[in-house]
Amino acid sequence: MKCSKCGREAIYFARYEGRYYCHKHFNELVEGKVKRTIRKYRMIKRGEKVGVAVSGGKDSVVLMHILAKLRKKFPFELVAITIDEGIKGYRDKSVEVARKNAELLGVEHHIYRFKDFIGFTLDETVEIMGPREERVGACSYCGVWRRWLLNKAAEELGVDKLALGLNLDDEVQVFLMNLMRGDVARLGRTGPYYEVIHEGLVPRIKPLREVPEKEIVLYAVLNNIEVDLSECPYATEAFRAEIRDWLNEMEEKHPGTKYQLLRSYDKIFPLLAKTYAKEVKLNRCKICGQPTSGEICKACQFRLQVKEKSENLKFSLTK
Ligand SMILES: [Zn+2]
Ligand SMILES: [Zn+2]
Repeated sequence: MKCSKCGREAIYFARYEGRYYCHKHFNELVEGKVKRTIRKYRMIKRGEKVGVAVSGGKDSVVLMHILAKLRKKFPFELVAITIDEGIKGYRDKSVEVARKNAELLGVEHHIYRFKDFIGFTLDETVEIMGPREERVGACSYCGVWRRWLLNKAAEELGVDKLALGLNLDDEVQVFLMNLMRGDVARLGRTGPYYEVIHEGLVPRIKPLREVPEKEIVLYAVLNNIEVDLSECPYATEAFRAEIRDWLNEMEEKHPGTKYQLLRSYDKIFPLLAKTYAKEVKLNRCKICGQPTSGEICKACQFRLQVKEKSENLKFSLTK
């Protein structure tokens, strides 16, 4: 097949719009979506410092590459932040992939480790907290601490916006999951555009939210971008996997489904935000000073829990 734009050999067919793309025009397609998303929601302003959260996985690495390309025409500062949760055989590899890509692009790279800021790696936490039945899932500790540490890193580095590599599929999966759980309030809090919720919370932007996962994988492959494709050994979100499979099936049968869902969400969001965003009043955590709706933030609560359990374990070992 021939590229719908230039007539050269096509390497990609976008079913949702019925067009074929050659390598060059495929790159323009993906980069154009990112550019338009940033412009539409005014995600980045001239001269701002953007911190891109790079795990080493395909989404965040591709995002860093595209942002590094964009800043050549539209001046803003770019730094990369990698959170190292301390997961043996998984994160050590992807941290290295993140580092290599940042070096290649000439992007300043900072690694923040759970071990240094929380006191425990995720592996240690799982070991200390014991069997699955006696603790919350590894993903709960990980998610809360990762968000906390990313915000801390962004504050320390003087970052204006934190860019996350969430793609179209992620956005639509979360939308459906929240709908199916009846958690409409949550839908009113995250959304297409960033908001300054609290002075201590660095605004998060999602420049990839209009790019399908499939196009991100292909972008990485076609442009020889090294990414880490391994999956986290603790990931067990069965519900999400079901939604993902169902969505892919619907997209196959009815091309454009994912975009339509995203559009629906974007239309509903302002209404939800009006009702639910106001509900959250944030204070400063009494221990770490980060924004929280209670007295002590969830990250500190988790940290204290693990610390206490580990001290009890040590005590019982020495007795
Ligand atoms: Zn072409
Ligand atoms: Zn705290």
